[in-house]
Amino acid sequence: MFESTVKLLESRGVTLKEIAEVVLAIQKEYYPELTLEECLAGVEAVLRKREVQHAVLTGIALDMLAERNQLPEPLQTIVAKDDYLFGVDEILALSITNVYGSIGLTNFGYLDKTKPLIIGQLNKKKNGTCQTFLDDLVSAIAAAAASRIAHSHRE
Ligand code: MG
Repeated sequence: MFESTVKLLESRGVTLKEIAEVVLAIQKEYYPELTLEECLAGVEAVLRKREVQHAVLTGIALDMLAERNQLPEPLQTIVAKDDYLFGVDEILALSITNVYGSIGLTNFGYLDKTKPLIIGQLNKKKNGTCQTFLDDLVSAIAAAAASRIAHSHRE
């Protein structure tokens, strides 16, 4: 299931390396020796968790169904429009950060606010595509990987 999750992310325009770059960007001020390879290993470790795979598969499936106009109303309109009052995308993403405790939540909030690199690109609306869930999932994977690195450097 790890491979299918990675492939699905890639089919939606997100590589693990791009997520690792976000992790490096937010952690290098605390850990100057941190490498992209280490961040990539962290992203992979996060994506090997079953609850993370389930969240990614679920969120991306909803984005894809919304693109094809296949969700029942009123959900179709809400997801396709990325209605800002719709918070289920964030709640689903929090199931990823929760795996790493409160520091994961802090990192997620920071990424949601600053939207660096790939997260900023995902947030720009492209015609005909739906990334309502994807942007939060990617932020959460990066936040979880960053938290994992923080925990491991503390030991
Ligand atoms: Mg969203």
